[in-house]
Formats: sequence, C-alpha cells, structure tokens
Amino acid sequence: MSNPFENAMMQLKRATAVQPFPEAFMKQISTPNREVRISIPVMMDNGTLEVFEGYRVEHNNARGPYKGGIRYHHNTDINEVKALAFWMALKCAVANIPMGGGKGGITVDPKILSKNELEKLSRGWARGMADILGPKKDVPAPDVNTTPEIMAWMNDEFMTISGEKTLATFTGKPLDKGGSEGRGAATGLGGFYVFDVLREKFNVAPGASVVIQGFGNVGGNAGEIFVANGYKVIAMSDSKGGIVKDDGLDIKALEEWKKTNGTLAGFPGSRIVTNAELLELPCDVLIPAALENQITADNADKIKAKFILELANGPITPEADEILYKKNIPVVPDILANSGGVTVSTFEWEQNLKGEHWSEMDVNAKLKELLNREALAIYEKSVAVKTDLRRAAFIVALERIASAMGY
Ligand code: GLU
Repeated sequence: MSNPFENAMMQLKRATAVQPFPEAFMKQISTPNREVRISIPVMMDNGTLEVFEGYRVEHNNARGPYKGGIRYHHNTDINEVKALAFWMALKCAVANIPMGGGKGGITVDPKILSKNELEKLSRGWARGMADILGPKKDVPAPDVNTTPEIMAWMNDEFMTISGEKTLATFTGKPLDKGGSEGRGAATGLGGFYVFDVLREKFNVAPGASVVIQGFGNVGGNAGEIFVANGYKVIAMSDSKGGIVKDDGLDIKALEEWKKTNGTLAGFPGSRIVTNAELLELPCDVLIPAALENQITADNADKIKAKFILELANGPITPEADEILYKKNIPVVPDILANSGGVTVSTFEWEQNLKGEHWSEMDVNAKLKELLNREALAIYEKSVAVKTDLRRAAFIVALERIASAMGY
C-alpha cells in the first residue's frame, strides 16, 4: 500500500517541474505547520475502557484558518491525515475561499460502535483538540464516516470547554444546529458543476454513461444528481462490492434496497462486480468517490473510461496519472472536482459568523458561479502551460498560497 503523503509530495514534484517555485517556498509548503496526536479514552458499553488514537494535522494557514474534515476509518493513520491536510490547503486555494488546509482523523471502525460510544469518542476528539480549534484558528468538518450529528456533538463539546458561544468552529452541522442549506449534497453537486463546464472541452456528450465507486454521502449524492441531469449511472459500489445495470440505475431505489438488505447485491436487474472490476468497466465517465490509491500502476492501463472525475481524495497515484495522461484520459483532480464540499462549509462558517441563514437557491447559485469560474481558470492554465488538469490545479493553488506568504 503506497504512503499517501509520499504520493502527495510526488504530485507536488511533478507539478513544480512544469512551473518552478522559489526553493524556500517549496520547503515550507512540503511540511505541515503542526501535527497533533491524542489518546481518546472511551468507556465502552460493556464496561471496558478502550483508548483510540486521534489526529489533527494543520498544514498551512497563509490564506485563512485551517479547514478540513475529520475521518473515522480503521486504516486512518498520520500519513493519510498529513496527505489529506496538504490537499485541503491546495483545495481551498483552488476554490479561492479564505481558508487554509488541515485534516483530522481517528483510527476506528465506527460501524462497530454503539451511538453512545460514537458520541463519547467524538466529544473526546473535540475535547483533546479544543486548544487548537476555533472559528479564526481551525474549523473542522465531516469526511469519510463522519456525519452532521457528529459535528453537532463536537461543536457542543468545544463550546463547553472553551466557553466560546459560537457555532462557527465546526461546519457540516445539522440544519437545526447552525448547518447550511445545501451542505449535504455540496460535494456531489459541486462535482457536477465542475464536470458540466469541463466536459465540452473534452467532448463528453450530455447523457453519457457514468460509473461511480463509493456510495457514501459523496457518491450517493453524485449518483442522484447525474441521473437527475439526464446521465445514465450504469454501476455503483460500496466498500463490500458493486453492481452493474447496463440500462441505468435508479439511485433512490438503490438506496432503499441497501437500507433494507444491507448490501447493493441482488438489486433487481443488476449483476455483481468487485470494486476492482468496477473501475475497469467500459464507460464514458468514471467517478472514484471512495478512498485513496484506487487507480495505481497496476490497473491504470486497464481503465476504459473516457474521462475521470475524482470525487474521492487521492484515488489516483502519481504513477497512474502518468499512464492515464499517456492514454489521453483526462482526469479532473480531487482538489478541484470535490471542492464543492469545503466551499459550502465556508459559506456555513460565514453564515454562523454573521448570524445569517441563506436559502438553498442562494447557496447553490453562489457555488455554481464560483466553481464555473475556478474550473475554467484551471482549464486555461492547463492549456497555457501545456499540462494536465492536476498539475495546472497545483500550479494555480501554489501561486495563490505563495502570494499569501509573501513570495
Ligand atoms: N472532508 C471534505 C473534503 O475533503 C470537506 C472539508 C470541509 O468541509 O471542510 O474536502
């Protein structure tokens, strides 16, 4: 399994080979400002005490408070969180929102915890990190396996510890606890807006076939949005495996099926595929929306999609990027494609600070305008410096961060 932080640094090297930056800036941007590890003791329902490991990495805050989600996963470790924090710094610069980059995590499989244990663990993370958090310091949000309810527990815990009566320390909260309209679907919807402005440049026709890996908040919402806009989603998967239905899936019906049966398998009219097979299906658009390191040197050559939209963070390794570039398969990179989530998080933070509540129509209109503009800016950069969209997005982000740092 390749180390995500090493991959991120390799991406940085590839981009800055196209357009170099000052050596001193390169040293600073390659190193996180702060890495925090904490132990979180939780009294489990059966009366035994478990100690979990929690992390927060604050990569860079030249453009604003550290911003980024918290991931609960049994494979999460400091190297993954470091990579994710670095990508957040670039992502916020790509989206041109006034935020820096950070990320958090806990090594845990949340699916085996009771609700009571999950609440204690989440409050424990917020308590352990309280010193470094705050609306002007570091503003966490949901990521893989973390929910609006978890954000509400954490914000409540932070207010108790700090005595600061503010809703603006965590984003992605439930609507009745200071959340923003549109935040739940924002990553999927933002991905669609980015796709919609770039697809014409790469000759992807409306109504094209789509394959999605991942059925969490991001993959599920993306599926619904692509179908609502006339696209045919022919395959979807979750962590256990996937299904294919050549004449297109009804995503809402599939969600119901999963709720009832606990699996995607057996959905009427579909056939089963593994996650590895799903990535290699012939299709127009492939959307990895699960975890990192899915398309690597081992399978990049077998990818048959004509276009890739990265809604997960880090699903393609740098070696695979090189192979896909040679095969002429355009990749819309994570730091652009999935930046809708953190953008609406930033709208939420702004509403909390001002005591406002914006309508869903206003939120989505602002999101669309911003992503259209920034997606085109990155496309134009890629044409100007003759490179792929990932290296162009890195260069645009690095220019913005370097300028904020006085380079
Ligand atoms: N976890 C999401 C991401 O990777 C959202 C972060 C946020 O809303 O701050 O972009």
